[in-house]
Amino acid sequence: MALASGLGGQLTIDLGALARNWRALDKVSAGSLTAAVVKADAYGTGITQSSRALYTAGARFFFAATPDEGMAVRAAVPDAHIFVLNGLYPGAANLYVRQNLMPVLSSMEMLEEWLAKCLERSEAYPAALHFDTGMNRLGFRLNEAAIVRGRLEQLGYAPQMVMSHLACADQPNHEKNRTQLALFQSVMAQFPGIPASLANSAGLMTGRDYHFQMVRPGIALYGGRAVTGRKNPMAPVVTLHVPILQVKEARTGESVGYGATYTLSRDSRLAIISHGYADGFFRSLSGNNVRPGGKVAVRGRICPVVGRVSMDLLVVDITELGHDLPSPGEGAEIVGPTISVDDQADAGGTIGYEVLTSLKGRYGRHYVGSAD
Ligand SMILES: *Cc1c(COP(=O)(O)O)cnc(C)c1O
Repeated sequence: MALASGLGGQLTIDLGALARNWRALDKVSAGSLTAAVVKADAYGTGITQSSRALYTAGARFFFAATPDEGMAVRAAVPDAHIFVLNGLYPGAANLYVRQNLMPVLSSMEMLEEWLAKCLERSEAYPAALHFDTGMNRLGFRLNEAAIVRGRLEQLGYAPQMVMSHLACADQPNHEKNRTQLALFQSVMAQFPGIPASLANSAGLMTGRDYHFQMVRPGIALYGGRAVTGRKNPMAPVVTLHVPILQVKEARTGESVGYGATYTLSRDSRLAIISHGYADGFFRSLSGNNVRPGGKVAVRGRICPVVGRVSMDLLVVDITELGHDLPSPGEGAEIVGPTISVDDQADAGGTIGYEVLTSLKGRYGRHYVGSAD
């Protein structure tokens, strides 16, 4: 619900950086197809604009989570190949066929519903198969592979792709990666000649063994950190500036915000900012006297959040800026060149994915840069 005025702040999405990130990942995975995961409104960046930019960069395969997202990609990029990760929603086969969406089938029920539609129309509509190699989330169980294969052979149906998903790819040395890789290879052996896909962003960065015929990066495209404990090589894509409403002096011993959880230990200067948890700035970024909270950059300087984040407002301590005072209306950086998506995630006890997908506040959204 971006406000047309832009007075509530501005989210800037750099489509040039998005395209550069896709191309950089495509280089790393040379020899495999590089898809683009655009679920959750392209990680908060806008599914229409980001899908188009990714297509211009060279992406032809897109992964949405839901049929509605698949339709949004279809409208934005008419000749894309679109997979729906959450699979075939019951009763939705006609819609998938009409929109040319490929369900990622992950249960016998989904498979049978899809095959029934194929038989009814005498058409082998493409779909992928998802095998669960260790997440206990969506996916056929490994011992269903033979049954699935038998059923497909019976009908002469060849799936578009066989895939699985890594549980611990963000920790490249986690032993579960190797275990899942071996289990996935055992599934692949039962579907000879069918393209395979295992890697998300972190899997892609972990090594060639994980690439197979297609890689499925999401977070890294949008500039987020995929692998923990390593320098993030991706270009930042989003910048959010929101306005400072008021600057005020406060005295030693006074408290800030709801619950009076932060007491000033010196005479301070505070900036009151038009941004709160209703805009995606987590309440867990509140700062009290025991535990520091999130940070906001004012005039390029990092300033701590003091007191509780409220619905529509937050307060930062700008005493360190001295006489370099911001004026009302001036923008404060929530994420951008000074404070990364992952800095904000770390401070709030979450991950960059949640910071990005929470960028739905009362601010305008605009696009800069070009994917060409
Ligand atoms: C979200 C998702 C991806 C992309 O993951 P990132 O960590 O964002 O790169 C790939 N595959 C599946 C099945 C997913 O759900």
